[in-house]
Amino acid sequence: MTWVTQLARPDIVALKAYEHASWEPELERLHANELPWRSLADGSSAGLNRYPEPQPRALVQRLAALYDVPASSVLVGRGSDEAIDLLVRGFCRAGQDSVIICPPTFGMYSVSARIQGANVVTVPLQADAGFALDTQAVLEKCTPDVKLVFLCSPNNPTGNLLSEDDIVNLTRRLEGRAVVVVDEAYLEFSGAQSLARRVAELPQLAVLRTLSKAYALAGARCGTLIADPEVIALLRKVIPPYAIAQLSMEAVLNVLDPSQLAVSKARLTTIVAERDRMLAAIAKLPNVTRVWPSASNFVLVEFADVPLALARSRGARLLIRDARGYPGLGRCLRITIGSPEQNDRLLEALR
Ligand SMILES: *Cc1c(COP(=O)(O)O)cnc(C)c1O
Repeated sequence: MTWVTQLARPDIVALKAYEHASWEPELERLHANELPWRSLADGSSAGLNRYPEPQPRALVQRLAALYDVPASSVLVGRGSDEAIDLLVRGFCRAGQDSVIICPPTFGMYSVSARIQGANVVTVPLQADAGFALDTQAVLEKCTPDVKLVFLCSPNNPTGNLLSEDDIVNLTRRLEGRAVVVVDEAYLEFSGAQSLARRVAELPQLAVLRTLSKAYALAGARCGTLIADPEVIALLRKVIPPYAIAQLSMEAVLNVLDPSQLAVSKARLTTIVAERDRMLAAIAKLPNVTRVWPSASNFVLVEFADVPLALARSRGARLLIRDARGYPGLGRCLRITIGSPEQNDRLLEALR
């Protein structure tokens, strides 16, 4: 037995994968009950009358190259949200197994766990230490029912990176016990190295990447799970066969074409510069009592009068995120870094 077959849901390990229509593009398709003609309004390049290729090879390879990992370690889904859901469904038995989350953090880990019927164990980040991971507390709470530990770095909504050493040490200590999932949705804004390069050496580490934030593709729904090939093979049985829509795949390949990457990079540089400008400017606003450092494209801000700040930003036609529902963030708002013009308008409104 491998560690995956020991940790994953036994019924998923035993499950025989759905046999989708075979993918043989050199032959004409009379095996998938599709129509032979494309719609006249169909603007795709491949034709939307055909089912897309399951885990499209070109897309998997492009993402593997982008993230500098082997294609066998890559699973592409509809955003990293889907990867979170797949991990929970592949590893947690309803009514028996648990996940650990470290609040205040991204809400989908606990929502996906609860939909699956898994228990959610919380180990708060250390607010007085810049929201650092409490490795010791995670280890103490990691009983045999815990299958997944969700970490977010940079963390949403606090904006800080977690220490790579802490994550690596935790993963080593949890060998044979749980998968450590590191959500790197905002990594590109941090300048830090991805933990994906350590998955080969630490098979129980799983890394989530997304094109939704730094690559301006939130609407395409494309996220990547980077994990041990055996985890990828397991979750390929759980993901629907035609998860990636043809139009999304074409859009992603266009945006990730090497000719476009310079634009992505320049925008990233602009956002990072704007973030640092906003951090300094927000700290000087009259209603602001605290601003946390940020390694992401948003900033967490504590206000003396939250309703006033919300009303002022709405008055400038700008939505900012109410973070008061997060534990310990009772007077906080999360502000996404926008264009220089939007940022100026927000500062003006809050002044
Ligand atoms: C935005 C966000 C995601 C969702 O990413 P998708 O790829 O769009 O599903 C995942 N994790 C965190 C922490 C996020 O903030």
